Amino acid sequence: MTKYIFVTGGVTSSLGKGIISASLAKLLQARGYRVTIQKFDPYINIDPGTLNPYEHGECYVTEDGAETDLDLGHYERFLNVPTSQANNITTGRIYQNVINKERQGEFLGKTVQVVPHITDEIKRNMRILGESGEFDIVITELGGTVGDIESLPFIEAVRQFKWEAGANNAIVIHLTLIPFLAAAGELKTKPTQHSVKALLEYGIQPDILVCRTEHHITPEIRKKIALFCNVNVNAVIESIDADSIYSVPLLMMKEQLDKTVLTKLKLAHKHEPDMESWKDFLGRLKNPISEVTIGLVGKYVELPDAYKSITESFVHAGARNECKVRVQYIHSEEIYPDNAKEKLGHLDGLLVAPGFGSRGIEGKIEAIRYARENNLPFFGICLGMQCSVIEFGRNVLGLNDANTTEIDEDTPHPVINMMEDQKNISTKGGTMRLGSYPCDLKKGTKAYAAYGKAHITERHRHRYEFNNAYLQQYEEAGMTASGINPESKLVEIVELKNHPFFVGGQFHPELKSTVANPHPLFVKFVAAAIDFSKKKTK
Ligand code: GLN
Repeated sequence: MTKYIFVTGGVTSSLGKGIISASLAKLLQARGYRVTIQKFDPYINIDPGTLNPYEHGECYVTEDGAETDLDLGHYERFLNVPTSQANNITTGRIYQNVINKERQGEFLGKTVQVVPHITDEIKRNMRILGESGEFDIVITELGGTVGDIESLPFIEAVRQFKWEAGANNAIVIHLTLIPFLAAAGELKTKPTQHSVKALLEYGIQPDILVCRTEHHITPEIRKKIALFCNVNVNAVIESIDADSIYSVPLLMMKEQLDKTVLTKLKLAHKHEPDMESWKDFLGRLKNPISEVTIGLVGKYVELPDAYKSITESFVHAGARNECKVRVQYIHSEEIYPDNAKEKLGHLDGLLVAPGFGSRGIEGKIEAIRYARENNLPFFGICLGMQCSVIEFGRNVLGLNDANTTEIDEDTPHPVINMMEDQKNISTKGGTMRLGSYPCDLKKGTKAYAAYGKAHITERHRHRYEFNNAYLQQYEEAGMTASGINPESKLVEIVELKNHPFFVGGQFHPELKSTVANPHPLFVKFVAAAIDFSKKKTK
């Protein structure tokens, strides 16, 4: 029988529920349990696909093409197990399902209400992964903070679920903040007490409290929290600020969060968590023998969460190369032909980011020109790859005003354009090429060398594609299509022959990089940046 763990948040948002959930899952997995994590988001969008990255950070795409919350990226990076649409549910999706059923007459004669119809639908979704039989433990993270109006139906659903499942089958972990008042020189427990009180008002007694704090909490504070929040002292878990999110599983292990959870769920402790390879990764991460600076050119640079998976991929690839990768965000709107050297001259590598729309695109193209002409290692992702095709078209092939039809519908040279079968779709959301697609790699190319095999799959999220009418011209001039979709013949990877590392992918490699499996293209890109920096210093 599957056991359920619910993770709620109190006091404030941004306490890191996603990282705590992923860390606990990692420890349980390292003890031999099959674990998955799902996130329930209280907003009304059906999925985050239509959200501006400034609103909610990056949109994470799963194998099955679901556009999801960026926390799912953490789940995959920690667990190295793919997630799916079932792992991310929003209020919008819950209501959509209920309203669809209402229109189909499923509730005929009844008044459709938040309780029980919405809460029933939430509970049904909470059970889907558990009922698949694939998991021993399902962790459900509730977005938002306890007390928010919009999270109420989810909290009520957790209360009912816990009651119906019975003690030892479902538990609630509440993540709170223990603020430090500098003037008083003290850690304060009152906000936590109030937050637990709020949960109690909704009928939920948390089983475990995880307390975010900047300073170690003393045994006295633990006792006080335990007494006022009705939990055992060993169920008060300290979560101190960490130097890296990847240190959190080990911190939670020290606090015995996994043991406390297993005891409460009446599950066997099996063996101590096997964290050897994780520790090896952390060792490499914390003891680099070289250092490089990679410029990340994009238009959402004010909000680093917009590029979460990319920066985490650099952490994985850096550790693999025993190299500290400093990622410097560079706004694409600030790069012009006459300042490219000044903006990019100090870099060891250039990554041009994914994106939508025309803002900043000319700056991206200029940056790519600089990288191509100066042998600076270049890695283009999605729009970044498309820009490298435009740049090569304009400046090497002499295709004047070459462009993507996303920006200029009337370009004389639509080197990037829309696939025929997508032209008539007008609704937004889910109309893109989304999710995992196969790709065949050409032998003798950098892509083939990186992956070390001929058949791969990668995840996509875009509407526009390389225009195959230009392919021959590009290949003859030295830009090779090193990855091709075997079914549609779409170009998935381009690279330059006469350049130390110039690779663009139509897909999003950053979505598949994990601690256990750093993405090969990121690993090779960082290696190329290390070479470049060595040559520079010589
Ligand atoms: N805007 C481009 C497209 O739709 C690229 C999308 C992306 O970078 N994810 O094809």
